Amino acid sequence: MGKNFLFATYDEVAEGKTTDVYFIRTKKILEAEGLADTLVHMETTVSGLPREYRWVVYAGLREVLTLFEGRRVTIRSLPEGTLFQPRDYYGVKVPVLTIEGRYGDFLELETPLLGFLGSASSIATKAARVKRAAGDKIVLSFGARRQHPALAPFVEYYAYLGGADGVSAIAGAERLGIKPTGTMPHSLMIIFRARRGDHREAWLAFDRHVEPDVKRIALVDTFYDETEEALTACKLLGDRLWGVRLDTPSSRRGDFADIIREVRWKLDVNGCKHVKIVVSGGIDEYQIPRLKEAGAEAFGVGAAIAAARPIDYALDITAVNVDGKWRPLSKRGKYAGRKQVYKCDRCHTIVVRPLEAEPPRCPKCGGEMKPLLETYMVDGKIVKEPEPPDSVKRRLLEEAFSMSEEEFIGLRP
Ligand SMILES: [Zn+2]
Repeated sequence: MGKNFLFATYDEVAEGKTTDVYFIRTKKILEAEGLADTLVHMETTVSGLPREYRWVVYAGLREVLTLFEGRRVTIRSLPEGTLFQPRDYYGVKVPVLTIEGRYGDFLELETPLLGFLGSASSIATKAARVKRAAGDKIVLSFGARRQHPALAPFVEYYAYLGGADGVSAIAGAERLGIKPTGTMPHSLMIIFRARRGDHREAWLAFDRHVEPDVKRIALVDTFYDETEEALTACKLLGDRLWGVRLDTPSSRRGDFADIIREVRWKLDVNGCKHVKIVVSGGIDEYQIPRLKEAGAEAFGVGAAIAAARPIDYALDITAVNVDGKWRPLSKRGKYAGRKQVYKCDRCHTIVVRPLEAEPPRCPKCGGEMKPLLETYMVDGKIVKEPEPPDSVKRRLLEEAFSMSEEEFIGLRP
């Protein structure tokens, strides 16, 4: 084997090498007993999420379809990016994805399936929460450095799908077909100060050498006071300066909102109203409202999104086909049978019903309810492609912004 990092290849994941060993043992037993061909219906539900969360952005479908392509299974799923709650209006667990097939044909893919949905959904959900807090201000995903680098495309894809306006990692932006976004690092300031005697030369050099369509954003917290530095940057670059970035070290922060307010004031009274304030460093959805109010217009968000707390999914058998008939059967704590998920367009209420039941009226507002689970794969062939991230994001943010901030984000833990 050549030089490599500690990550599994496509082949290893698709062949089940990253699975828990008990599935492999189960497969061996079922095959030996002639039971591996048992036709099962399985469903994925959320089994755990951070306490303050009320809504989850369902994400990871794209990866799941890639994982199961070629396996003889039928997959139904919510559309990628659906906002849902783990339990419906009546308290029944909401199935987000179902798999039907012969259990022996796919059981070892349970572990990677849950991994894909869990990690994609936690990143996308956090990105949506951050964007909901930021409102019309800009959210940039700066989190590639907070995760295994092999995951950068995955992290950026789902950060963008969930709500981020831009991403900084090149490989992530490439997969999304967008341009990566970024400013300048402190190292550039330090080298210019050491070699040219003045770190502010770095701003001018950036302006000289970087493509003209890249926004000029001067980093203004490296050595001196942010207010003075911001003003100097504005004087040096004039109209070409799009913004200043404050990445103020936590030891110097005091009240970060106060620093932002002061920078904004100083820029405004000195004819630099056009210069925007970009902030980064440990930002999350709970800090954004105050920083926004103080005058921040763009937020670079790292660990909060890229290393967001997990959303746990579980996969369970809920029906077994015996002699051509589906028999509802599940473990305790799960709801047996094959189901459909309905959502009210008007008030977002979710209701889970048995597959064969009539579509319900919304129990909350009486409105019509739309079925959400659709078929994406038949016998291992993709029959419906997941929606591209841009349109997913538009749809889910529209819904997130139709709720109050408190309803969507909940209270700080
Ligand atoms: Zn309704």
